[in-house]
Amino acid sequence: MLNKARKLSLLWFQVLIFFCVFASVIIALSNTVIFNSGTDVSLSVRDVLSERIDDNQPDILQYNSFKTVQYLTPIPTPIQSTGGVKIINTREYIYYPLSKQNPIGNVQPNDLVELPKSYTTRKILVSQLIVSDLIKLIKAAKQDNLELRVVSGYRSFQEQQNLFSYYKAEEKKKNPSLDDMQIELLVNTYSAKPGYSEHHLGTVVDILSAENNYQFDSDPNLKYVQWLENNAYKYNFRISYYKGNPEYIYEPWHIRWWP
Ligand SMILES: [Zn+2]
Repeated sequence: MLNKARKLSLLWFQVLIFFCVFASVIIALSNTVIFNSGTDVSLSVRDVLSERIDDNQPDILQYNSFKTVQYLTPIPTPIQSTGGVKIINTREYIYYPLSKQNPIGNVQPNDLVELPKSYTTRKILVSQLIVSDLIKLIKAAKQDNLELRVVSGYRSFQEQQNLFSYYKAEEKKKNPSLDDMQIELLVNTYSAKPGYSEHHLGTVVDILSAENNYQFDSDPNLKYVQWLENNAYKYNFRISYYKGNPEYIYEPWHIRWWP
């Protein structure tokens, strides 16, 4: 009788051990699957990025046809801040595909520095990443007898909001018959809404020339327009809003660091 009870408890013990081993295997397998799928996603994003860097050797034709660049699927990071500023690692956002369909939200790069005054018209903050190339670009222009200065760099969400509101008020004065929606659409052809501006990245500047007293002007006869079109790419910058781009008017002064 005792023997039978011992056998029975041994059997139950074996069943328990088997169940534990089985459960461990299942858990381990599911973890592997989850881990692998996560890794695959990040790897594919990195692969595409490095491929793009390789593809992006100085090539004026490719540079000028910015519209042919296939944007990545947005990197799945939470970008819509629910209040307050989100500090971002600038390196992760170098190729962030900002557009009217894909905002970045209320962000601040983690490596902002002030540009030396001799290269600007006022106090300008930019990402540390772009400083060296930007100064090389300005010095090269000087060699070609062109005095360039940075007039805008990093802009916060709030600054962009103020700018957008200012432009709306100006347009309303000029076009009093237009309603608020029409005014907003009009302004949005040359100014991004807060949360949608490439200036939030810290890797974008507006650069103008002494030849027309640092005025925003895309006249192709201006030396600075021609110079940026022909040379910006040599210093790892590209004109985001090239002529004929689908989102904004032509802005030869607005250059994005794209190494
Ligand atoms: Zn700009």
